[in-house]
Amino acid sequence: MAQFRIKLIAPDDSERELLYDNQTSRLTWVGDAGEQPVLEVTPKQFSEAQVVSANNPGRKGLIKTLKISLGLSCNYACNYCSQRFVPHADSTNPSDVDDFLQLVQGSLSKAPERIEFWGGEPLVYIKTLKPLAEHLRVLYPDAEFLMITNGSLLTLEINEWLEQMGFAIGLSHDGPGYRARGADPLDDPHQRQMILDLYTRLHPKGRISINAMISKQNSSRAAVQLWLQERFGADVQIGEGAFIDPYDEGGLAATYKTAREHSAFRTQGFGELRAGLTGRFEITHQKIQDFIDSIRFARPASALGQKCGMDRSANLAVDLKGNVITCQNVSAAATAPNGQPHLIGQLSDLSAVRMKSATHWSQRQGCSSCPVLQICKGSCMFLEGPLWEAGCDAAYSDNVVFFAAAIEFLTGCMPVFIDGDLPPDRKDIFGLARSKAVSPGPRKVIPIALDQRPA
Ligand code: SF4
Ligand code: SF4
Repeated sequence: MAQFRIKLIAPDDSERELLYDNQTSRLTWVGDAGEQPVLEVTPKQFSEAQVVSANNPGRKGLIKTLKISLGLSCNYACNYCSQRFVPHADSTNPSDVDDFLQLVQGSLSKAPERIEFWGGEPLVYIKTLKPLAEHLRVLYPDAEFLMITNGSLLTLEINEWLEQMGFAIGLSHDGPGYRARGADPLDDPHQRQMILDLYTRLHPKGRISINAMISKQNSSRAAVQLWLQERFGADVQIGEGAFIDPYDEGGLAATYKTAREHSAFRTQGFGELRAGLTGRFEITHQKIQDFIDSIRFARPASALGQKCGMDRSANLAVDLKGNVITCQNVSAAATAPNGQPHLIGQLSDLSAVRMKSATHWSQRQGCSSCPVLQICKGSCMFLEGPLWEAGCDAAYSDNVVFFAAAIEFLTGCMPVFIDGDLPPDRKDIFGLARSKAVSPGPRKVIPIALDQRPA
């Protein structure tokens, strides 16, 4: 059990107090009348999450999401990319497609609900991607297709094909922070025209989002939103949107180090969110709703898998040689930081897959006693050591903003201090005890379409 006392400031500047248990998701007022639930609770049944570790390897079963890694080659070099220093496996090409399709048909007992096509940059592999996706579309006509692309290799022919094939597209773009990725395709007249052509085709169908990452170099969601709205329109959908996990020195350089930096980032994030400047980020709605639902349905921590879902038996990442890998961001030639191979089995024998490369949050020091556990769900499941610690620090500062916004949404009061078994810098959410100079600014209405605010 991890209990926290959360100190809140009410609109009349009085202090209020909540008790929060991250294991049972119980959130109650503390007052003269005893403990009162903040929200009416309707308990739901949850299944237990798979607790994956080297000693308790993860398995794969009935596959719902199939992630196909075409290879890690990319025509860009983002300085925080999780794939930057991953050794590449043997390259794949169009001649692998037929054998791969045979493997898929022989191994999956049911049609996957969703198929994702991953690079590197997937359009580097267009000669392989086209026959692969066309055959899979025939085999699985109802499956959702998804691809993440930087958009720089789009052509009218590719755009038409993506539209016809029913793809949903995540277009990677960090808005004003694009310099971390290299040359901006929106600065190139031809590339810009191709990107806007694809956007015009897919936006009315709700099948395209602009995926932005937040980092020390690109810390303001409000600035990203404004920049993207100016180029794609006021109703742009912004995907991804979380603070990066650091995978190497470049990623580390893009994370915050000091307590002052962290509290300034939280203050900025909370201020932007409550001022209604980040509502086009899906993550804003999703995280706040997720926390409120955890309270409403009394979600136990034992039901929580990892944030990316790749520990789940129904989510499978493979390459075209039929190698099963930890996730789409690694290769069959790579080793996880815990010394275990990222190659965890073969598509031809799914029952023998054993994922030893990942560590469930419950096996990490700190996650069980972390107030944002219900919405963070652990940092990257294969990181270790200083990279995991920096990722955890970043994840805390990112998630505590949504945690505070959800609580303010539910109570009308602003959380400022979380007392419990956690480091001092994490207790003082906005660093107010250290400096009166930082303030999240005036509160407006949080623009989220939720109906669970108590009367
Ligand atoms: S912020 Fe860190 S300690 Fe808390 S749940 Fe996330 S990874 Fe675990
Ligand atoms: S294990 Fe999950 S969080 Fe880590 S790189 Fe892979 S998809 Fe991302």
